[in-house]
Amino acid sequence: MSSNPSIVNNFIRQIINGDQETGKHGGRVVTRFPPEPNGYLHLGHAKSICLNFGVAGDYAGVCHLRLDDTNPTREDPEFVEAIKADVRWLGFEWDALRHASDYFEVIYRCALKLIGDGKAFVCDLSADEVREYRGTLTEPGRNSPYRERSIAENLDLFQRMRAGEFPDGAKTLRAKIDMSSGNINLRDPALYRIRKTTHQNTGDAWPIYPMYDYAHCISDAVEGITHSLCTLEFEDHRPLYDWCLAQIDLPNHPELTQPLVDAGLRMPVSTPQQIEFARGNLDYTVTSKRKLAALVEDGLVDGWDDPRMPTLAGVRRRGYPAAAIRGFWERAGVSKQVSTIEYSVLEACVREELDASAARRLAVIDPIKLAITNLAGDHAETLTFPNHPKNEAFGTRAVPFARELWIEREDFLEVPVKGFHRLVPGGEVRLRGVGIVKCIEVKKDTSGNVSEVLCTLDATSRPGQEGVERKVKGTIHWVSMRHALEAEVRLFERLFTVADPDDDADGKTYRDHINPDSRRIVRGFVEPSLASVAPGTAFQFERLGYFVTDSRDHAAGKPVFNRIVTLRDSFAKAAK
Ligand code: ATP
Ligand code: MG
Repeated sequence: MSSNPSIVNNFIRQIINGDQETGKHGGRVVTRFPPEPNGYLHLGHAKSICLNFGVAGDYAGVCHLRLDDTNPTREDPEFVEAIKADVRWLGFEWDALRHASDYFEVIYRCALKLIGDGKAFVCDLSADEVREYRGTLTEPGRNSPYRERSIAENLDLFQRMRAGEFPDGAKTLRAKIDMSSGNINLRDPALYRIRKTTHQNTGDAWPIYPMYDYAHCISDAVEGITHSLCTLEFEDHRPLYDWCLAQIDLPNHPELTQPLVDAGLRMPVSTPQQIEFARGNLDYTVTSKRKLAALVEDGLVDGWDDPRMPTLAGVRRRGYPAAAIRGFWERAGVSKQVSTIEYSVLEACVREELDASAARRLAVIDPIKLAITNLAGDHAETLTFPNHPKNEAFGTRAVPFARELWIEREDFLEVPVKGFHRLVPGGEVRLRGVGIVKCIEVKKDTSGNVSEVLCTLDATSRPGQEGVERKVKGTIHWVSMRHALEAEVRLFERLFTVADPDDDADGKTYRDHINPDSRRIVRGFVEPSLASVAPGTAFQFERLGYFVTDSRDHAAGKPVFNRIVTLRDSFAKAAK
């Protein structure tokens, strides 16, 4: 049993608990996260990462990071580095870093064994012909005319495929299973294809590459994986996974894994169990590397780490804490039930984390001027503000206060409406940490827009004053004009305008649903304590939301803030 009582129970942990009781894998738990390095990881992958590393951690087991690089054309070293950085950022460290390509020689030997045992054959059918022979869900397939080739001929042809004698697509190696199986994956599936493409790890050593299903089960077994956790679409592939491993029988054929021993990669071979769980889906987003890659390639976003992207690099730059993503998937749970979680649930997790971890600051992002007429022009004061209202450990900071301030344009309304408790002509409001001001005059520019609000400050309302504390309904924030730093502030909204951008029932695709207002850039003013902040530091700008210094563009003299999330779920309100 798991020794950690705080572990959330789910059906996978129940299976593992059972295996621990029966001693099925000798008490070991070894999992792996196996991304294909053909793009950046996204929020959906985080579910699998949290599950695989989480389960391993809970049972004092280990988790491997395996780059599933069986497909030579689509891989790029940039993606490999990004995957490693993202897994680490999420808070996990792999026990071993492996590549499916580390096992190419073993996988090849396994194929020779299958051929020798009469369980695989070389087929000359073209891709179109294979499709034609395969049958349908309701009709059985037909045997390939090459299915009865002799073992000797198959061995000869396969070795010549490996030697590079045949052009791409000329032949495949296929498993000999059952063309009438109700499961199409068992209708003599391809195990190897010819592809004369340079591979990022193995270079030009291999003109043939193993198919995913075949390579994956062998990779799992030679790494000693005990529980191979994958998403539901692989449920129908499980019989093939089990078939391959049963036929190859790695535990009883150490000669097959000898190349790993020679390379110092030896691990105890296991008979892994594939367990499928439901993919994590989020509304208002797409989680498919292919689609995210298209957004990047077509310039619809500014790269894989654009703060609007659901990639881990994107949400990191956006300022989402890794703990919020872990907590989100923990809360979502793991089951076989396919569901889509509301994006606002993730945002709530982000707020919860940042509420505890982000220091408070003052900033004005849509400024108008407020002048306090009963203070001298050179009035200067330093106020002390707590950095966190609920946690004294954050300490305090000095905030300069002067006669002329920036306040938020929306905190002043020339013509009051019912329920508006901020500043109106003749009305009073509290300036955060300062006291109560009364609006006595409004100045306008030549086009009739309010350019300045003149106020008087009630000296008796200042903090620390003796006497009755006067109450006013509203409190607004401010920064001193003279002291504030100008900053670029990037305000983000959802990247898609519809909850299910993948739904193309109406003939539109996710590309047609991109929100044109998903990024608005404004110039605001922030308090001077933000002058020298490292990139990637998150704050709460009081009353505005959570903001982070941009990890690419922020510099001490040229501050750039990304809005991480607003303080409240304004989206839900607007959608109603
Ligand atoms: P994509 O379509 O985005 O490329 P994929 O599943 O093909 O997704 P892989 O790189 O093969 O991407 O995925 C690595 C691992 O992450 C796999 O085990 C896969 O099942 C898992 N994974 C991918 N997307 C999700 C998701 N939305 N929820 C849970 N696990 C996921
Ligand atoms: Mg994939």
